[in-house]
Amino acid sequence: MAEKNLNIPFLSLKDITALHRDELMQAVGRVAESGWYLQSDENKAFQTEFAHYCNKQHCVTCANGLDALTLMLRAYKERGQLHDGDEVLVPANTYIATILAVSANGLVPVLVEPEAETLVLDALEMERHISVRTRALLLVHLYGRNAYNDRIGRLCREHSLLLLVDAAQAHGIPNADADCVAYSFYPGKNLGAFGDAGAVVTDDDDVAAVVRTLANYGSNEKYVFEYKGMNSRMDEINAAVLRVKLPYLDEENDRRRTIAASYYDNIHNSLISLPRRLADADCVYHLFPILCRERDVLQAYLKDKGIGTLIHYPIPPHRQQAYAEWSDLSLPVTEMIAECELSLPLSPALGDREVRYVTDALNEFRA
Ligand SMILES: *Cc1c(COP(=O)(O)O)cnc(C)c1O
Repeated sequence: MAEKNLNIPFLSLKDITALHRDELMQAVGRVAESGWYLQSDENKAFQTEFAHYCNKQHCVTCANGLDALTLMLRAYKERGQLHDGDEVLVPANTYIATILAVSANGLVPVLVEPEAETLVLDALEMERHISVRTRALLLVHLYGRNAYNDRIGRLCREHSLLLLVDAAQAHGIPNADADCVAYSFYPGKNLGAFGDAGAVVTDDDDVAAVVRTLANYGSNEKYVFEYKGMNSRMDEINAAVLRVKLPYLDEENDRRRTIAASYYDNIHNSLISLPRRLADADCVYHLFPILCRERDVLQAYLKDKGIGTLIHYPIPPHRQQAYAEWSDLSLPVTEMIAECELSLPLSPALGDREVRYVTDALNEFRA
């Protein structure tokens, strides 16, 4: 019968840090004592190591995920492959950062509905939104779910669209066909720093060079400025932290998969539906989203049992004041997700007992 109340926060960064405590403290100490806090050996080494992990030629570190997205798009503009007013397709249910990066570059975000079963971009919907002005797809592996498929690849090739990826929630998903990929290392991501950090990853020598220059005030020779650039750097401390954590990423993603498999196998409640289960290679379970018509009641019920949950995301971009120009848009799938989505606790620091407790609570839920 019902176990005594456990207290399960949605995500405990403290517990995640504790998994590699000694190595992390050593790395932080090493940087503190080195006297080199920016643009030095830790960043150089992490760029090499993360590019290798992603199976790409280049990794350029920067200050955060939004900057990575913004710098990536800006590089294509500086190279003349994107122009003011060009349309960029984005999933309508993404986190706002994806869309902000498009707007910030004078490009036009075009919202594409996701598939209700997978919660990621719908290729048929994508095709419907391709116009003569469409130049790029900015795909998002939301929740850690691989959004790429052959059909999307074919559409990009047929219409000569750049295939760009927001992989902020998807460290470990391969992006073999992508032109360029942006990452966030925000503390709560699968690979998280001690603060803000991000990176752009690509096989294109020139895109990498332009991103690097843009992120360094537009300069790649001291006091000579090629572009109106920005200051977007990853701290050496964070590069050192990420170097400690990167070798554990695959096993931590596997732990996430094991927990997700347990949720999939054991959650049985007609009031709750789960997104389509993907092959392990196609999902790193940054989040574990479930859908429930009585979502707010369910969230309060779980809170009462000591279980923390979050909603990703309660207000979709087209309903935000920041994008008032979209207030008349109707995007039923995106709106359904905003009304019904709830993310369960899932992290490499979560134990089997906790997973069982969450599962039991869900199975006992009655509206
Ligand atoms: C976290 C996130 C970002 C932004 O990353 P920051 O490092 O917080 O700027 C962008 N896109 C998605 C999908 C994210 O989840």
